[in-house]
Amino acid sequence: AKECGRNNYQFFTRALHARAMERLSLENSLRVALERREFRLVYQPQVDAASGALLGCEALLRWRHPERGPVSPATFIPVAEDAGLIVPIGTWVLREACRQLQAWRQQGRMLLPVAINVSPLQMQQANWAGTVAAVLRESGIPPTLVELEVTESALLDDIDAAVEAVATLKRTGVKVAIDDFGTGYSSLSYLRRLALDKLKIDRSFVRELPDKVDDIEIVKVIIQLARTLGLRTLAEGVETEGQRACLVACGCEQIQGYLFAPPLEADEFCELLPLADAA
Ligand code: C2E
Ligand code: CA
Ligand code: CA
Ligand code: CA
Repeated sequence: AKECGRNNYQFFTRALHARAMERLSLENSLRVALERREFRLVYQPQVDAASGALLGCEALLRWRHPERGPVSPATFIPVAEDAGLIVPIGTWVLREACRQLQAWRQQGRMLLPVAINVSPLQMQQANWAGTVAAVLRESGIPPTLVELEVTESALLDDIDAAVEAVATLKRTGVKVAIDDFGTGYSSLSYLRRLALDKLKIDRSFVRELPDKVDDIEIVKVIIQLARTLGLRTLAEGVETEGQRACLVACGCEQIQGYLFAPPLEADEFCELLPLADAA
């Protein structure tokens, strides 16, 4: 039995060691990924829930590791956050999305708003709003075309700081959305204090629509809450026509998900944009 215990112990330390090494190896690769141009953005359409009209897109980060190939954001974003690398990467994301909007404009397309994910660590940077304002000024993109998506957890850590950070961002002219809504512990009192524009209903509430009656009720309450606060509503992860119809019946304004389109390469998304002179 003693030997068995030791073997278990060795097994666990080896497994932990392997995980730590794996993480360190990813972190080291991430450190050079920006300069080696291994990142790109893909763009997922956001559409009117009832008509399907294109309203904008969300930019999503992709990383192709030179040996491993594509690495999922679910794997590398947490590593980038722990190492503080998400700050420079996040600034690159903002600059790249603005550059892409200008490129689409030069290809004769009408510009629609782009949503960009922001990590809690970026929000906590002393001059984050200043960085956003500077990137927008350099790019020549009107701030109203950019919407920053912040997660509930980022806002909940320190509510007074979050209220201040969102207010400062809003002064630059950008829009602010609350992402993954319903997965944190939100309270009405803090939501009311934040100058948000949009509420994104998390995929977990959409997945089992229209069969799960409880989820229909939850979605209705969230939409009512958003209306009370004067926020736009968008449901994430919409994959079926049944989900879409249910969301429309609940009063949801916008949807995003595989039903309409997965995240698209920049040139694929460009073809969906209306021509500038068609107005
Ligand atoms: P998120 O912000 O909630 O993004 C939505 C995720 O759902 C994306 O995964 C998207 O590809 C996926 N998705 C879209 N439609 C559907 C659908 O109909 N069904 C299902 N099952 N999934 C759908 P992705 O691209 O793998 O990104 C995962 C997460 O990584 C994002 O979740 C976001 O939290 C983070 N992320 C992605 N890009 C960035 C970035 O530039 N900066 C930061 N800080 N985080 C990012
Ligand atoms: Ca998002
Ligand atoms: Ca989300
Ligand atoms: Ca998410």
